[in-house]
Amino acid sequence: MIRFPNEIAIAYAICNSNNDCTNNEFIVDGQSQMCNKCGELLYRESVRNYTLKESLRKNTFNDEVGFPNIIEISYATCKNGECDYGEFVVSKELVKCQYCENSMHLEGKKKYYLSYETFICPICGYDKLFFEPYDKFGRGSYDICPNCDFLFFNLKTDNIEKEKIEYLKKSNRR
Ligand SMILES: [Zn+2]
Ligand SMILES: [Zn+2]
Ligand SMILES: [Zn+2]
Repeated sequence: MIRFPNEIAIAYAICNSNNDCTNNEFIVDGQSQMCNKCGELLYRESVRNYTLKESLRKNTFNDEVGFPNIIEISYATCKNGECDYGEFVVSKELVKCQYCENSMHLEGKKKYYLSYETFICPICGYDKLFFEPYDKFGRGSYDICPNCDFLFFNLKTDNIEKEKIEYLKKSNRR
């Protein structure tokens, strides 16, 4: 039995290769970031949280990045007997193993709903962010705060304090 997590973070990712690949896809954040089309690395653009439980506030807002309200997640295992790599993935026709590039076998499709929980911007205090600026590992969401335009890239906590002071200085000058 596959144990699906109650919450899952989904990233919108764009292929980072220099060739003609223009692939973009939704991926499970923290798992394989290999482009399914060309094998290069995908670049995380934005992250949203999804939950197994259906939200009561469905259809009340349109996500500006275009994240779907519902996304299907499966558990993928590599079909190559010697590899046996497994991970949670966004369900799609073909998922390739990031280690051996064999196609993976998908099982146990589950629906996840876009989470309507809002988060607070650590820089300006805006409290209606639809994404978590930093995850528990301190990795930035690569989203932009609509109030202060701050881009949440990978920062250490002490730098957040510095950025906050800078922001307050700037807004006082206005
Ligand atoms: Zn690609
Ligand atoms: Zn494999
Ligand atoms: Zn902000």
